[in-house]
Amino acid sequence: MIIFVKKRPFPVRTMIEERLSKRLLPRHPLQQTLAFEISKGKAGYKGEKNVDYYLDFLPGDKFRIIPDLRLQRKKYFYQIDSLLICQYFLLPLEIKNVRGILRFDRNLDQLIQVYKGEKKRITNPIHQAKRHRTQLRQWLTLHQFPLIPIEYFFVNSNDETIIEIPDDLTEVIKKICNSEVLLEKIYKLEREYVEPKLTNKELNKLTKQLLKEDTPLEFNVKKYYSYNELDLIKGVFCPACSTTIMDWKNRAWECPDCHLRSHTAHIDALLDHYYLISPFITNLQCREFLRLESSDTVRHHLITLGLEKQGSNRNRTYNLASLINQYNKFGLHR
Ligand SMILES: [Zn+2]
Repeated sequence: MIIFVKKRPFPVRTMIEERLSKRLLPRHPLQQTLAFEISKGKAGYKGEKNVDYYLDFLPGDKFRIIPDLRLQRKKYFYQIDSLLICQYFLLPLEIKNVRGILRFDRNLDQLIQVYKGEKKRITNPIHQAKRHRTQLRQWLTLHQFPLIPIEYFFVNSNDETIIEIPDDLTEVIKKICNSEVLLEKIYKLEREYVEPKLTNKELNKLTKQLLKEDTPLEFNVKKYYSYNELDLIKGVFCPACSTTIMDWKNRAWECPDCHLRSHTAHIDALLDHYYLISPFITNLQCREFLRLESSDTVRHHLITLGLEKQGSNRNRTYNLASLINQYNKFGLHR
């Protein structure tokens, strides 16, 4: 079994878009765009997980994978869907889950997606993968690592997608594969590169340095979507029914529909506040957002959560940022 040096994260952008969609009324004008973007984000994630499944068959003593690696070059970031590392070569993978037909057009060197009779030009994943190779090369030089060959592939993760390439585009053909033949392609590279370019120690150092510089995306939802904070539905959603608002009853949240009782359901609601409104919250704002009547109950919740405080009395604000770790600890994340 191969070593995934970190867990593939669920896309942050999709997670926040799901939170926004849940808090807006079904007829809100943003819902259609959100539904489209959420399904796109989930499809991409599913495709990457599908490729992870195959990569998992590689021997762990030789290969390592860094999923979803995001590095900075000058002012800009680039994101590699998966980076395969070994002592012989590096292999960044550009993974796409696109439906329909993918047609490579030789004349303009572009990629056309044909789906349900509609044609759309999409970013050429081969160019993207190739660019990642150049960026990685610069990164290695900058960090004074020995030069190691860097290959690249575009992996199609959708079983039903048909890829059309003119026969004479042999260079392009070599760089494309469907997820189920990816292993074969990697074994072929293994036969080509037989000379180790990095020692085991250097390999460990490289992995460590890459992880150190890996910067997860921070998605500023307000920059992408314009919504009025007053339009957001308030309350604590039932984790089981997902659309029902729970009541605070006898020291726990209770769902009026399925009668589920929870002591932690408000954490997810506060995260909605963190991502969609502000990382900071006052007692009054919290009372309104969680639909609680008593400021004592709110204070109890905020104190129990151990949030960092600023200011005093009426102006006191609580910082919700530390909830992200607690959320992971409670295992409430997907
Ligand atoms: Zn319920």
